Amino acid sequence: MSSKDWIEKDYYAVLGVAKTAPADEIKKAYRKLARESHPDHNPGEPGAEERFKVVSEAYAVLGDDAKRREYDEMRSLFGSGAFRRGARQPGQPGGVPFDVSDLFGAGSSGGGRFAGGGISDLFSSIFSGGPGGGGAPGPARGRDIETEVALDFDDAVQGVTLPLTLRAPGVCDTCHGSGAKPGTQPRTCPICHGAGVTTRNQGAFSFSEPCRNCQGVGTVVDEKCPECQGTGGVTKTRTLNVRFPAGVADGQRIRLAGRGEPGERGGPAGDLFVHVKVRPDELFGRTGDDLTLTVPITFAEAVLGTDLRVPTLDGAVTLRVPPGTPSGRILRARGKGVVRRDGQAGDLLITLDVVVPAQLSAEARTALETFAAQTPPAGREHLDARVRRFG
Ligand SMILES: [Zn+2]
Ligand SMILES: [Zn+2]
Repeated sequence: MSSKDWIEKDYYAVLGVAKTAPADEIKKAYRKLARESHPDHNPGEPGAEERFKVVSEAYAVLGDDAKRREYDEMRSLFGSGAFRRGARQPGQPGGVPFDVSDLFGAGSSGGGRFAGGGISDLFSSIFSGGPGGGGAPGPARGRDIETEVALDFDDAVQGVTLPLTLRAPGVCDTCHGSGAKPGTQPRTCPICHGAGVTTRNQGAFSFSEPCRNCQGVGTVVDEKCPECQGTGGVTKTRTLNVRFPAGVADGQRIRLAGRGEPGERGGPAGDLFVHVKVRPDELFGRTGDDLTLTVPITFAEAVLGTDLRVPTLDGAVTLRVPPGTPSGRILRARGKGVVRRDGQAGDLLITLDVVVPAQLSAEARTALETFAAQTPPAGREHLDARVRRFG
């Protein structure tokens, strides 16, 4: 385990013993907890394996006199419980800003080992108000996952259930995150003796830096797990059926509580956030719960009036265009818009667009000229008055 883990994790609390507890008491506490939390005794219980791992990890340090001394020293050096998870690391004295890459994917990438936690947990717990931000190794909430989905226009209007495939980092099932080949164990790093940091003296100063032999992990793996190549982590793919409610809109975000990454040490899972993109439709537009459609009509239809069959999203309606309808008039087909979850529906708003013919037959031209001669002026008198001012 890395020195970062040592700072973050209170192994005494894990085993439920005092910091001054003698070695035999620690051993007794460990045996009891190991029996209780052994996965074989808790089949099918998701948190059991993780609890067993944490207990074993705690005893691996406290059960070893030399390691326990180092652990005590390091925790007193870094303020033990007062130290926030992942906020600082050994070799980064207080006040030095943390590495931004730590904010994203901490634990899963750093050092190649699943150290867990990390500052992204701290951030997500601050923003979600969930537990898991404290210094003691309590249950930690899993990370949130964000993903994006493109829906067809009518699926978004009518609602749809789609399978969503998610790829997210997870703990390797073969080695349970240790990175070691099954049947073997990671060995304490001989260079840093498990501390994960080495100290270099330069004049009156001494500098701590991450151990190069173990990349700060504190252990080395002799035979790598074949499944994860020693990283302890694998990318896991899972498929989830997600229900998109009728009326979901472009740019909306759907939250699926508890469908994010699993929590650590019995903590709750994170949430899954699905960002919805809606593909445009070739006919219909959408404004809130109303659908929009543009229908071209001839000048004659606008003047004389007509009945039109126009499509809706799931059928067709007959639309009455009254005589003398001006261009740009919007007609409303009630209830033919987006049906919301409460059963209320928006309308279909139909914009009439009077089309001007680009070419006319000689006959049509004559007819139109006859029509023009008998038509009252368009009503530009108010403009003509202004034009006359300029001569
Ligand atoms: Zn593995
Ligand atoms: Zn080392």
